[in-house]
Amino acid sequence: MNTYLDWHERARGLSPEGRAFIDGNYVGAVSGATFDCVSPIDGRVIAQVASTDAADVDLAVTAARRAFERGSWARQPPRERKRVLLRFAELLLEHRDELALLETLDMGKPISDSLAVDIPSSARCIAWYAEAIDKIYDQVAPTGYDALALITREPIGVVAAIVPWNFPLIMAAWKIGPALAAGNSFILKPSEKSPLTAIRVAELAARAGIPDGVFNVLPGFGHTAGQALALHMDVDCIAFTGSTRTGKLMLEYSGRSNMKRVWLECGGKSPNIILADCADLDRAAAAAASAIFFNQGEMCSAGSRLIVEAPVRDEVLEKVVAAARSLLPGDPLDPATRLGAIVDAVQLDTVMGYIDAGKDEGARLLTGGNRARRDSGGCYVEPTVFSGVAPGMKIAREEIFGPVLAAISVNDADEAVRVGNSVIYGLAAAVWTRDLTRAHRMARALRSGMVYVNCYDADDITVPFGGFKQSGTGRDKSLHAFDKYTELKTTWIDLS
Ligand code: NAD
Repeated sequence: MNTYLDWHERARGLSPEGRAFIDGNYVGAVSGATFDCVSPIDGRVIAQVASTDAADVDLAVTAARRAFERGSWARQPPRERKRVLLRFAELLLEHRDELALLETLDMGKPISDSLAVDIPSSARCIAWYAEAIDKIYDQVAPTGYDALALITREPIGVVAAIVPWNFPLIMAAWKIGPALAAGNSFILKPSEKSPLTAIRVAELAARAGIPDGVFNVLPGFGHTAGQALALHMDVDCIAFTGSTRTGKLMLEYSGRSNMKRVWLECGGKSPNIILADCADLDRAAAAAASAIFFNQGEMCSAGSRLIVEAPVRDEVLEKVVAAARSLLPGDPLDPATRLGAIVDAVQLDTVMGYIDAGKDEGARLLTGGNRARRDSGGCYVEPTVFSGVAPGMKIAREEIFGPVLAAISVNDADEAVRVGNSVIYGLAAAVWTRDLTRAHRMARALRSGMVYVNCYDADDITVPFGGFKQSGTGRDKSLHAFDKYTELKTTWIDLS
């Protein structure tokens, strides 16, 4: 077991790759431009990263298209693609420590989470889709005796994935797995705030046997690399995870270019509803704290609105506040740390701005509200809980993406559902009750892609992940994800 001193030692010895990966090789940006990759742990520059733009996008798309046309991946026997992707997943696990360290240095999450969650979960995801490759069958339509109508799935072509920084490798893996399993060529644009693991795994993908041009990585900014990818006339599909604001731009880019398929996994402001008949308030409160404080609250599915029925409000809040106070931010490289750094100074300002807005609008600050560990040079915020929040307040309506909980008191289950559904988002929701009928009725009434009953953030690769309303379109994970990366074809054969 490494101590925090070991991790710091390893971090000092690291010189992360910062170049793009195009057509099987690491290359600098055509323009030669780079940007500083800054660690939110202490403000140190940890790498120079290629700042790619339209010229690099062109090279990557050309390579991806060429590989697709050649059939070097799409036309390989399914069991061969399965073998290669399983090897890729194994290589991720073999490099678990290195990848976890990169993830933690780059975006500030605790090293224990990177080791236990991010890297193994990414590997499991890719292995799961690899296993699916030779187990999915196409269909024959029931058209009658004199005709044969085949319904087959084909890879869509060149898929570009544009992903955020909160779970850099996991969000990428949710797209890499099904897109490559379906036989596409793939271009990954990681967030400029967390590009390092994406760049590193490109070499592992090549080592596993993924042919040149099939897996490319373009680090860079949204308004340059991201926009050029989304506007490119030869990209067939954009698989996007990020904010609702940028998601809407993706739809515009598609309309202005080639009507490429656009799949959106966007923001959330998820209601976590605890009713007075909840069977176990200790468990519910512990889950409520973890639903907002895990990953520093930088979670699309964070339970950022705690909606509590009045009779149990004070008891629940007391327990949640106690949990928050036990979770002070620590050095992310210390294996004992449970709450790490906020991804960068911009996000830190955003979070602090929301905390100010909560105070200004008259919500009651029960705990937290301050920056922490200022001496470190990094970006840290105390876990923060507001009570007395009205549904119309900014902190109740907008996604904060930080460790800030807005607690809203309601009088009954109907009001809880009304308040729960009152935002533009519809990603996740939870209900805590011992009444099975009420749980089912509320699960039906909540306009969310995922509803948890007596739990929060239950997770398995077999289950779809995604949202209603302005939380997005389509679903990551599960076999449903193949819908995003395949086209349906019908082939009629006259047998008369
Ligand atoms: P963001 O929208 O700022 O950026 C996401 C990606 O889009 C980045 O790679 C960025 O470089 C790129 N981008 C930004 N502007 C662009 C532009 N004009 N053109 C093309 N690309 C552009 O989001 P973020 O701050 O990185 O991530 C946080 C958001 O992601 C939150 O809203 C969160 O809820 C959401 N998220 C959703 C899910 C989900 O599954 N629904 C999962 C994780 C995160």
